[in-house]
Amino acid sequence: MAQQALDTVVLQLKWKHQFQFAGFYAAIEKGYYKDAGIVVKVKEGNTSINFVNEVISGNADFGIESSKLVIARNNNFPVVALAAIFQHSPEIILTRKDADIRNIEDLKDKRISLGQNGLASPKALLNKFSIPEDKHIYGSSIGYVNDLIQGNTDAIATYITDAPFMLEQAGVEPLIFKPRSYGIDLYGDILFTSQQMVEEKQELTERFVKASLKGWVYAMDNKSEIIDLIINKYNSKASRELLRFESTMMEDLVMPKLIEPGHMNPERWRYIADTFVEIGQLQPLFSIDGFLLEDYQLFNNRRIKQAFYFLMVIVAVSLISLLVFFLFNRRLKKAVLQRTKELSSANNNLTKEVGRRQVVHANLTLSEERFKLLFEDSPISLWEEDFSQTKQMIDAISTKGVSDIEHYIRNHPEFVRACAGSVRINNINKATVQYMEAENKEEILNNVNEVFNEHALKDFAEELITFYNGKMLYETESEHITFKGNKLHVSITVKIPNGYEETWSKVIVSLINITDLRNTTDELKFTEVLLRQQNEALKGINEELKKSKLKAEESDRLKTAFLSNMSHEIRTPMNGIIGFTDLLKDDDINNGDKERYLSIIEENSQQLLRIISDIIDISKIEASQLKITKTHININQLFEHLLDIFKLRIIRLDKEDVHCHYNIHSQLPEELIINSDITRLRQVLTNLLENAVKFTEHGDIEFGAYPSDDKENLIFYVKDTGVGIKKERVSQIFDRFFREEERFGANLGGTGLGLSIAKNLVELLGGKIGVESTPGEGAKFYFTHPYKLP
Ligand code: ADP
Repeated sequence: MAQQALDTVVLQLKWKHQFQFAGFYAAIEKGYYKDAGIVVKVKEGNTSINFVNEVISGNADFGIESSKLVIARNNNFPVVALAAIFQHSPEIILTRKDADIRNIEDLKDKRISLGQNGLASPKALLNKFSIPEDKHIYGSSIGYVNDLIQGNTDAIATYITDAPFMLEQAGVEPLIFKPRSYGIDLYGDILFTSQQMVEEKQELTERFVKASLKGWVYAMDNKSEIIDLIINKYNSKASRELLRFESTMMEDLVMPKLIEPGHMNPERWRYIADTFVEIGQLQPLFSIDGFLLEDYQLFNNRRIKQAFYFLMVIVAVSLISLLVFFLFNRRLKKAVLQRTKELSSANNNLTKEVGRRQVVHANLTLSEERFKLLFEDSPISLWEEDFSQTKQMIDAISTKGVSDIEHYIRNHPEFVRACAGSVRINNINKATVQYMEAENKEEILNNVNEVFNEHALKDFAEELITFYNGKMLYETESEHITFKGNKLHVSITVKIPNGYEETWSKVIVSLINITDLRNTTDELKFTEVLLRQQNEALKGINEELKKSKLKAEESDRLKTAFLSNMSHEIRTPMNGIIGFTDLLKDDDINNGDKERYLSIIEENSQQLLRIISDIIDISKIEASQLKITKTHININQLFEHLLDIFKLRIIRLDKEDVHCHYNIHSQLPEELIINSDITRLRQVLTNLLENAVKFTEHGDIEFGAYPSDDKENLIFYVKDTGVGIKKERVSQIFDRFFREEERFGANLGGTGLGLSIAKNLVELLGGKIGVESTPGEGAKFYFTHPYKLP
């Protein structure tokens, strides 16, 4: 086995080293603890040590205490009993045989020393025989055997394990009253620890208990060996004879042959607790929940918590099941009390219990305490109320002859208020204080009237009607005002539990604050509106996208048309060039023909060049490679030059009816100089003029420049009196590859790229292009260009 680090624990003994603790020494000596991975440090006890405190504070991990441990548990010291080492208490009443005491009753007129705080079973015994309290003497227990010997007292409460022996040693014959013989039977030494220890180190605790009990089995089987050990190793002050006496007496207390060592029975603990109640050392409403190790073994801590949270949920979801639990629990409690009574009379015959299996109780016993916890710690505001007077008031009205109670309640608010006044609130929980924003429970209980405000009274009336009609559950949502004046939205459930339908003497009200829920709902509504708006906006964007998509599809369609056209556009002039070049080879052709052929070749070459340069421009624009280089340009010169070119072109095209001129606005300087890229500006104007010439058969072609209204720009224009552009086409003509389809056939040339290039160039120069046209009358293309009027 791998070498593991050992856990070190401290065991606080109840007294000096003696046979009383034999099992623990045996477990150390025989290596049982070591085998269990534990090193045990044993501390001797004395009367000044409070063993419970010692263990709770963590000074010791384990301790030994009498049955009084159950009192400590109920006084809020979280101790857990691990094993009953002594099945019976060693406590007795000891007196002298030579005193005139024959039976317990004879103690009535005697002095009885009960020790420091009074040993429990002797006290119970005296109590049982109604021996007056004023005869009891409390005081230091030390040396009281001597008091008996010296005649300072008549009887002492002491331990059977050593006192009778000591008395005998002094030559006095002892007379022993065993409480057990009179039906008072407590456990003796209890090995115990703190709840914290069990919760945090349950496994170690269990190992320790197991090894200790193994030690006890060994010690009771090998008494002499352990007595030697106590004398030699633990330097016991007790004599060997005393230790032997002690070990013999313990045989009857530990009962190793009959009872599994350490065995404890919850029912017997309840009986023991009842004994403490009888002698006034314990409240009647005691609880042994969580007092026994098996409580933790049955559930283990995590599961208890889970179960607890689960029960919390049950409270929230269903008050009914809670009430069933409650009623069941009360029945169980009654049954337990009954059983305890039976047990106490039958108690002398304890051996019957031998071999009885450990009672699994915890999973059945949802104790009063736990219910209280559940009620008290429920996160939901809970009210336990009594409507019995209210019920009587309603019954009284009906006896008086009111037939329609429902109608009466609805129309007599003063009656409803009186009814509200008759409601008794028996209990409210912590959550209610929080929920009502009250200082404490009393504030609510003292101001019940405030709880019943107008709103609440209306609900209350409906509640009464519901109950009157035989339905024991009323649920609603309402508004409540807290003691601090805050408004709450609450979900209210009011339930009369089973068994109270006739009297209405128990009514459970639960209030759940749903204000936050309401607010959240409002927020959600707001968010919904926002989302709707966003949705609308998205719809708009979607429309835009659809339009863009259509446009893209249109552009794509135009591109396809262009490409199929392009081969034609390129091939036509190429064919012209090749064909007429071929004809020129013929030696027979005359000069006139030669001249004609050459001009056709030139024209076709020009056309081809234009197509190629358009395509190159478009590619450059597409790749953002078209760079603008601005210089000072003399517009007068540019216009003069363009006029020359186009006059010549018009003549070439035989358009005798077409006249071309330009105009510079009078507001502009005579010598108009602007900062621009001459090549690109000329290209735009050339493009526009080419189109004007192309689409005009007679009339004027005018181009020119004038200042914009804001005097920030120059406006260039080309105006013709040609065919014009249909309205529906105006938005399309600047798109790439657009040509008016019916004109494809006409041999007007053009690629459908000209205006698209012009638009791009104008924008690169910092302006905008546009067109105005009346079909059949002409078109005016114009574009702006940044220019500051001097
Ligand atoms: P193309 O090189 O085919 O002329 P453009 O982009 O320059 O291509 O012109 C596109 C279309 O715009 C032309 O096919 C024509 O239908 C129309 N258009 C351009 N300018 C004019 C104009 N001055 N008068 C009438 N229609 C014009």
